[in-house]
Amino acid sequence: MKKYNWQTIGHNKIVKILQKSIESNKLAHAYLFSGKEGLGKRFLAEKFINSILCHDYNLQNKQEVKSLPCNDCVFCNQLNKKIHPDVYFLKKEEDKKNISVEQVREMQKVLHMASFLNSYKIALIDSADDLSESAQNALLKILEEPKSKTILLLISSDYKGLLPTIVSRCQIIRFLPLANETIFKHLLELGASREQANLLAALSHGQIGGAINFYKNQDFLNEYIENTKQFLALFNNNISNQFKILDNLLVGFKNNFEINNQLNKELDYWQLVLRDILAMQYNLDNLVINLYFKDKLADLAKKYKSWQIIELLAKIKAVKQYLKYNINPRLAVENLVLNF
Ligand SMILES: [Zn+2]
Repeated sequence: MKKYNWQTIGHNKIVKILQKSIESNKLAHAYLFSGKEGLGKRFLAEKFINSILCHDYNLQNKQEVKSLPCNDCVFCNQLNKKIHPDVYFLKKEEDKKNISVEQVREMQKVLHMASFLNSYKIALIDSADDLSESAQNALLKILEEPKSKTILLLISSDYKGLLPTIVSRCQIIRFLPLANETIFKHLLELGASREQANLLAALSHGQIGGAINFYKNQDFLNEYIENTKQFLALFNNNISNQFKILDNLLVGFKNNFEINNQLNKELDYWQLVLRDILAMQYNLDNLVINLYFKDKLADLAKKYKSWQIIELLAKIKAVKQYLKYNINPRLAVENLVLNF
């Protein structure tokens, strides 16, 4: 067994599967790394690719590698600089709606060229959820006729949007949220106090990327705190104040499309807070995410009945449906907050 310096947090089973496939040279033609944002899929994908190429290079040169990736060979150096000629990164261009069929064809051309360094050709698609329908069809053609020593690695937060024929041709690697305990320990290692680590581990609900971001980026944390305060102020307030809070939430968003997007994010978040209140009502405090606001949430858990919270959750779900059908987003949410 080789030594690996992947420095991953959690996901032990996945790490073992991937490392074993490198050592036994049993690599799949296509992988689908699936799971919510912030679980470390991208990080692990890069370590995996780096190790495949480093391992292969050292095998070809009959060199013994002490650890993988070695961070020393030609491949490792090129990968670290993101200039490796055999690795292709496919992603949505910033000003575009999706990954186009032309982009997939371009990727295919590159994959079909012989490897510069006589090794694997690897494409990383991040994120596959951005592929347009025609781009997916073009990708399917590539997957149907796999070439030897070619690997496609798709990253997806929700592969239900992908063609089932694509999914069935990939080895699916499912990423699950990490245990709070794992994140807690990692935050302590980064230097957080126990109290801080406890609050942030709960808040990140299994997303290590989010936890690190909250810890390292004070603005990000402040934004969360401010946002939650505003949401909690919707309860037991008069209409004019409630509408002022909505104004604040939507300040800076110009058209209905932007407002819609913003409200969708906001509603996802409201659901999480309401679930916390429900959890408290059922004495399931260990499930509470927003520990920062524990006292205020406990207050609301006493003031409101469970059925009222459940009804609010159902109404939020309904508003999210309306938003899909181009209904005036502001109006839909105004109607909702009158129920708080
Ligand atoms: Zn190397």
